[in-house]
Amino acid sequence: MKRISILGSTGSIGTQALDVVRANPDLYKVEVLTAQNNAALLIEQALAFKPAMVVITCEDHYQTVKKALPNVEVLCGEEALIAAVQLPQVDFVLTAIMGSVGLKPTIAAIQSKKDIGLANKETLVVAGELVMQLAKENGVKIIPVDSEHSAIFQCLVGEESNPIEKIFLTASGGPFRGKDTAFLTNVTKKEALKHPNWVMGAKITIDSASLMNKGLEAIEAKWLFDLKSEQIEVVVHPQSIIHSMVQFNDGSIKAQLGLPDMKLPIHYALAYPQRVNSNFERFNFLNYPEFTFSQADTKTFRNLDIAFRAMEKGGNMPCIINAANEVVVDAFLKDKIGFLQMSDIIEECMQEIEFILKPTLNNYLETDHHTRIFANTLVTK
Ligand code: MG
Repeated sequence: MKRISILGSTGSIGTQALDVVRANPDLYKVEVLTAQNNAALLIEQALAFKPAMVVITCEDHYQTVKKALPNVEVLCGEEALIAAVQLPQVDFVLTAIMGSVGLKPTIAAIQSKKDIGLANKETLVVAGELVMQLAKENGVKIIPVDSEHSAIFQCLVGEESNPIEKIFLTASGGPFRGKDTAFLTNVTKKEALKHPNWVMGAKITIDSASLMNKGLEAIEAKWLFDLKSEQIEVVVHPQSIIHSMVQFNDGSIKAQLGLPDMKLPIHYALAYPQRVNSNFERFNFLNYPEFTFSQADTKTFRNLDIAFRAMEKGGNMPCIINAANEVVVDAFLKDKIGFLQMSDIIEECMQEIEFILKPTLNNYLETDHHTRIFANTLVTK
């Protein structure tokens, strides 16, 4: 029986993880659930899964949650996420909260020697070097939940001593694949939120439309699999069936395939190193007579190029672009800026925020903070 903490249980990954738990009651026990704002769903989940602790990070909802769950330890505030990952009986922490706020609880979980199911890519984008080093020191496994990284992770099982030549990170291309800059100038959030293959949260769906998601995933892959930027190639594969591939030093390529459904990588991360039966819909080749591949258009989708430049620059630059991106995506979702302005503002932050080659954790937190302030001034200009 694996005892798990789910950070961000009311989001897209969190609710799907609970579906997996519900289907495997003798394998998993939920010990902690956390949510930011969605008190009603958090309460419903807690009544169903009976965790030892719940956290509502937005303090306005504390009394509501506390009253509804008299038999559960209820905490509030962002700092409570640290306590949520440190409970002694927990052995696995699924980090499914969105954004760089996932960094501190992930570090606390690693320091408490809990294995991590990483669905919060921003943690590695912001401070990948530091987080992977800590995981190594504490003997903690980080199992990626992001579908591409889960695919690569699965391809690497049994290949521990074999060098990776390169990885192919597949991308659907998002809803605006094939469009040009003129078209993107006036796209609305409604159009950007219509992903062709994947059902996901709002932030990651916008990131998919701008290809920032693929850029952040490249940085995530760099740290997870200890790669150089030139070993990471993005390939547009609109069918989203090949979730990513690894090419080894003999030229052989391994791929992991499946329907585009996040439940599969969640299920794998929870069950790892076992594979556990599932009743998920099976892939049928007859429904997909053709797999196609093309190069990503980084001239139109500048965010992918921005992310690769940040990865190559290193230091706190990925932290800068991540913080700026969180601000601009939020602003785009609130109709404050246009689609292309997102890249403009991120690039301005790359210019303006102080570059630090060897950042400490505090440097990362300060960079994140300063970049948000500066990006917000550009949004409201
Ligand atoms: Mg992904």
